[in-house]
Amino acid sequence: MCGIVAYIGPREAYPILMKGLRRLEYRGYDSAGLCLLNSDLKVFKCKGKVSDLEDHVKDSDISGNIGMAHTRWATHGEPNQINAHPHFSQNKSLAIIHNGIIENYAALRSELMNRGYAFTSDTDTEVLIHLIEDIKINEKVSLQEAVRIALNQVIGAYAIVVISKSSPDKIIAARKGSPLVVGIGKNEFFVASDATPIIEYTDNVVFLNDEEIAIIRRNDELKILTVKNQEKTPYIQKLELSLSAIEKGGYDHFMLKEIFEQPRSIHDSMRGRLHLEQGLVTLGGIRDYEQKLLNAKRIIITACGTSWHAGLVGEYLIEDLARIPVEVEYSSEFRYRNPIITEEDVVIAISQSGETADTLAAIELAKGKGATVLGICNVVGSSIARATHAGVFTHAGPEIGVASTKAFTAQVAVLTLLALLLAQKKGTLPTSHFRRLLVELSTIPDKVEQTLKLNDKVKEIADIYMNATNALYLGRGYNFPVALEGALKLKEISYIHAEGYPAAEMKHGPIALIDEQMPVCVIATRRGTYEKVISNIQEVKARKGKIIAIINEGDETVKNLADHSIEIPETEEILVPLIATIPLQLLSYHIAVMRNCNVDQPRNLAKSVTVE
Ligand code: GLU
Repeated sequence: MCGIVAYIGPREAYPILMKGLRRLEYRGYDSAGLCLLNSDLKVFKCKGKVSDLEDHVKDSDISGNIGMAHTRWATHGEPNQINAHPHFSQNKSLAIIHNGIIENYAALRSELMNRGYAFTSDTDTEVLIHLIEDIKINEKVSLQEAVRIALNQVIGAYAIVVISKSSPDKIIAARKGSPLVVGIGKNEFFVASDATPIIEYTDNVVFLNDEEIAIIRRNDELKILTVKNQEKTPYIQKLELSLSAIEKGGYDHFMLKEIFEQPRSIHDSMRGRLHLEQGLVTLGGIRDYEQKLLNAKRIIITACGTSWHAGLVGEYLIEDLARIPVEVEYSSEFRYRNPIITEEDVVIAISQSGETADTLAAIELAKGKGATVLGICNVVGSSIARATHAGVFTHAGPEIGVASTKAFTAQVAVLTLLALLLAQKKGTLPTSHFRRLLVELSTIPDKVEQTLKLNDKVKEIADIYMNATNALYLGRGYNFPVALEGALKLKEISYIHAEGYPAAEMKHGPIALIDEQMPVCVIATRRGTYEKVISNIQEVKARKGKIIAIINEGDETVKNLADHSIEIPETEEILVPLIATIPLQLLSYHIAVMRNCNVDQPRNLAKSVTVE
């Protein structure tokens, strides 16, 4: 969840570290800190944002060409200056930054306290640096060996960087469960949680694997050891990431930029996969597993948050089109509830970052039971991409805004292609119907473009409801996951309490909340359960609720009933989520901006949830 960046080379480290932290700030941001080595190990840290850290170091000596920096998302100990990283070892000759959780920290801490170590912070991290120092001194080993021995005693997840005052030409980095990338430049190295801080300096990178330790020495080759002491040849990859893709490009916020990128990102997620002329769908990444999917007794989709909502759309699609039973599971529940998984099941894990800790654990569980596990994620080289048997990348491009937008629609687009592929192979759809869906799917980027033109209209509605304290989102069928996603978006970035419900369930509870203050967002597109949804709207109106309706262009019936309507282009029922989600994203965005909320970095949230 946190951001890690480190540098060793001929340049001044400070500007590289700060720029890197800004790129990573979306990952977690309750406090920040950095360490520079320049004859002495200097640590600066503070509560707050990267800009606070910048103010904090203003009058200090920040020279040095080896250093590391961190943005923290607290798990152990409140977000304050003392708990911020880096942490020193007892004799202040070593410093560490850490992403993840040391689960056995309490036992290690009391052991170290018995040996005379004094702790200054409440973090689990501090345990690790004292342990490394203890091993280094008592066992008289090198820094990398002390790190290696210490990591063998640790239970939990980590991405760490360690710098030592007595080894001014060296950085040690290691990972297990939390991502870490090493960038290799000319006589210089970079380490970061993802490639965004590295991209402008080099496109040669090595994604560390779990339990690998990188020994990075000035003017030397990168060396990789496992915690079991096996040497590994670094696998150098070329980055395919452009600088413009990770910058705001004139928009006020990354979230708005990413909402507006959706015609493009949906298109990219289908490129080379939807073949209109031949009338087929291909998904190269899972070609070898098509038969497994077709023979599957059951498909289990596992995910968290917005990806879980995409999974729900996937369930409707795959059951509807390909007639294969599907279950959608929250990864965090699935992994701990002793689920029945057999070798005939196919598990599909969905995650934007490809680093979601609970989803990774669910993957390991399913693999352990012999199931085939496929991934749908956005980040190439991510842990989930590597942990699954095969998978499909969403190709939405980097998503920086914490509230997911374009990654969601790309996930839904990929799941639509998957359902169509399976339907085609199974022969569950008449050819004419299949072709019609294909043609319609290919028009979705244009229809999303048209929908984005509603931005001003949505903004007017946002202005009316910006002070709401509660909101309800209702939809049925394919629009039910859209309602869930709409409500989540509002909660995440505007801190307004919002609930998504299947429209018909409203009368079994939430209807009690409705009064003249309550905005109720209803996705009431034609087809499917349209008539039923109209009855649900009447039920809300009878209790004086305010209706914001997402309707198809020219639908006078609902328009006359609703207080506000947003008219989106008509499409096939199964494709509506790809379009109906857009105005709900915009509504949340504008409300959050009007409430002065930090849209790209909402409080308490992090982009890449690498803790369970
Ligand atoms: N568990 C560590 C802490 O609370 C690291 C958290 C992080 O990943 O930022 O300090």
